[in-house]
Amino acid sequence: MADVYPVNETFLSWQGEGVHLGRKAFFIRLQGCPVKCAWCDSASTWHPGFVPKQVRKSSAEALAAEAASSRPEFVVLTGGEPCVHDLGPLLAALASVGLKAHLETCGAYPIARGFAWVTVSPKWAKPPLADSLARADEVKLIVEAPDSIDRWTEAVGGKWLSPNVWLHPEWSQRAVPAVLRAITEQVKSFGAPFRAGWQVHKPYAADSLDPRARPPAPLGGDPANGF
Ligand code: SF4
Repeated sequence: MADVYPVNETFLSWQGEGVHLGRKAFFIRLQGCPVKCAWCDSASTWHPGFVPKQVRKSSAEALAAEAASSRPEFVVLTGGEPCVHDLGPLLAALASVGLKAHLETCGAYPIARGFAWVTVSPKWAKPPLADSLARADEVKLIVEAPDSIDRWTEAVGGKWLSPNVWLHPEWSQRAVPAVLRAITEQVKSFGAPFRAGWQVHKPYAADSLDPRARPPAPLGGDPANGF
């Protein structure tokens, strides 16, 4: 069992997306992602052009103690893709210090038991498992083009199981009227489970106020680096 994890960054901030928007949270961003989305904004977890020269290795217990020292309402395990790691020991360590764990995953890998909240953000490069979609407390769809919502709805067989399906403009498209209009029309036409979303922490620069946070990789990809 893995009990030492490669850590891209940790920071105290607030949840900038979804049902838990605005709540105090400690983030643990694990290194590594095999999915490689074209517009990834966490490219320092996987892209050779951005990965840190040295990646910190931390035990489950050390990460839990670090998180607990910030007294967050919950801990968010994110990436990269956290589910490529054995998260069992980290979940146990967080539980031992009384912290709830939330997960942000693309859903393409099995989800460990023990999360208090699961956010699945499916990606075309490696679509989600049916079990992941069924487990999701919320789904975050990245709307990169006006037809993204229809394409994803068709891909899941026309039915979303999660009670919350957030529609987030892909960040480089956040001011594109056709993308925003598609989100608005979807919510106006269908209502629940669809909800219009936004990455609220980004205009606040909330994450980067913690000196442990890394500067973000170029938003919307970096063509010079091939993504
Ligand atoms: S799944 Fe997430 S971390 Fe991985 S490449 Fe895609 S956006 Fe980036």
